Parts: sequence; C-alpha cells; structure tokens
Amino acid sequence: MKKSLFLLIYLLTSVYLSSQDSLYVIEDDEKYRYSMIMEDLDYLAAKYSDYVFPFAIGDSEFGFPLKAVRIGTKEKKPYSIFMVGNVHAREDYSSKLVMKFLNHYLLSIEGNSNVYPSAKKYLDSLDIYIMPVANPDGLKIAHQDWEGIEKWRYDVCKMIRKEGFEEWKANGKGIDLNDSFDDGNHHLKHGDQGEIEPASEDFKGYYPAEPIETKYLQEFVNKLKPLMTISYHTKGDLVYWADAGTHAIFEGIDTEINQKVLQVSGFDLVSVSKNPVTYGCGLENYVRAKMGLLGSCVELSKSNDSRVQYADSLFNDLVWKNASQIPMVYIKEVFDRKEKIMTLSNAYCLELKMKL
Ligand SMILES: [Zn+2]
Repeated sequence: MKKSLFLLIYLLTSVYLSSQDSLYVIEDDEKYRYSMIMEDLDYLAAKYSDYVFPFAIGDSEFGFPLKAVRIGTKEKKPYSIFMVGNVHAREDYSSKLVMKFLNHYLLSIEGNSNVYPSAKKYLDSLDIYIMPVANPDGLKIAHQDWEGIEKWRYDVCKMIRKEGFEEWKANGKGIDLNDSFDDGNHHLKHGDQGEIEPASEDFKGYYPAEPIETKYLQEFVNKLKPLMTISYHTKGDLVYWADAGTHAIFEGIDTEINQKVLQVSGFDLVSVSKNPVTYGCGLENYVRAKMGLLGSCVELSKSNDSRVQYADSLFNDLVWKNASQIPMVYIKEVFDRKEKIMTLSNAYCLELKMKL
C-alpha cells in the first residue's frame, strides 16, 4: 500500500514537473544559437497563438528571415513598443533577455508566472513587438556556426578582424549595423577613426543604411511608429537614452522613463550623448531623429576590458538578476505617457516637414 502511494506521488510529481518544463523553454545558460532562438520563437508563437502573432520584416544579406512577433490581442492597436536584440553579432545575451522576457510575459498573462503580474492589462491598448535577432548572419559568424553560410565563409574570413570570430560585431557583409542608420550623422560617424572597409566592427558602410537589415528595420519602424524602441546590447550595465541633437524634443519624458529603469536595475546614469561622431547612426538615434519617438540602447552585463561577451552560462547571474524588470518598466512607463509621446512626435514631424 505504502509503495503504491509513493509511486502515485512520484508519477504526479513527474507529470507536474514536465508540464512546468514545457512552459519555460528558453536555453538561458547555453550558447544561444540562431536556430535555437528561432525554434523557441516559433514554439511560443504556436503555443500562445491567441496573443502572439509572428511575422518577418524581410531577409538578411545571407537570406535568413528577420523574424519578429507582436504580442497583443487579435486587433492591432494604434500604440506600440518595439524591443530588439542582437543588432550586434557577438551579443547573444541581448537575444536571451528579450526571449526570456517574452516567455515569462506569456506565462504571466496566463497566470503561470509571477515575474510580470500586470502583464495582461497593457494589451488592451498597446502592442509589444519583439525581434530577438536583428543580425542573424553576424550571430552565426560569432558562433562559428557555418551551416547554411558556407558560400560566404571565404569572404568573411578575408575581412579585417580585431580578434577571433567570437568578437564579431558586424553583419555578414562586415558593416556594423548600429553605425549604419540614416539619422543624418553618417558623414560624421567615427570621424577618421573607423575602418574604411568591411571589418568585424567599426565599419559604418559606404553610405547610410547600406545593409539590408538596416533598410528593413528603418522601413519597419517608419511604418509602425512605435512609441519607444529599445535596442538591447552588451556590455556596461548602463543605458544610452538621449543625445544632444534630439533630447529637447521629449520635454523630459525620456529622462523620467529611463530614470525608472535605472532604479529597478541599478544601472548607471549616462549623461546626454554630446558628439554625433560617437553616438550617431544607431537604431535608437534613428527613431529619435527621424520620427521624434523614444529610443534607448540598453547595455547588459558589467563592463570589463574584453570585447567578447561573458560566458553564456553566466547570463542569469550577470544579466537576468539585474535586468529582468527592464522591459516591463519600459512598457509601463511608455503606456502611462502614450498620448503625450504621440503628441510630441506629431509636432516634431510637422516641424521636420515644414523645414523641407
Ligand atoms: Zn552592441
């Protein structure tokens, strides 16, 4: 009798644990390869099809889909927020952060996680867009995951490389995507310090928005007009949140929102970026300068003197512990100011048109 009771408890526990396992799927302590990320994204989109709507904004230079999801209700909303990871190849921590956020957000909507207790309430008026990998070709190079990109391997190997492939930051064509956005500063970016031909980092391209990934991202945000774009990177445990060229547009809203993020994460306050030679041509700069919409660049994990990311096994300790609430704080703070942000952006865009 005793034995069969033990057996029953064992079986029930196993069933419970395995059902819990399938609810959380992100491999947060392993090297997070492009194929794993896409598999997880597809799985979550299929499992939560009432809230998750997958799409792609185009294909990378090497032909991989630039996949994204909209979290929301069936009807699209006029207000949205956009979070993107892996603009820089070697930074798979940024993909893990947005994917782990996505998984816990969906669990929270259904009452199966306590990480984001108020997750559901925002979806009546706000769509959340998530793109975990903006630079699939670069991510595959950084992971030396040559499957499917063999025919470009020779060209990639010929390019200037600062160190090993694990520090690869650019896209597959050797252009640093976050130096390539057409924010009006491309001619200034890097001064005469950057690379002048394709390289693992610091080459901005021969003209603005040269990489196809940059073109698709620009088209996407131009059409969607997300109230805020948050681009996740490593490292520094800090947020680049404002630049001298656009800070005045936001009438202090950018300061308020990013201060809340610093409070919840313990990240450092960075002063308003002053010189377009260093700050220009990022996705965050583009949305501010072209649309008067908010943009932040969040640098995950503490700084050190290596350009390579920390080990993937340290993600939870170095990133998730501090940054798990960052996406949620952005959602809440943007949601609370949605009309004001739209009003400021409309006024700014009108001003831009008049200048033409
Ligand atoms: Zn980066």
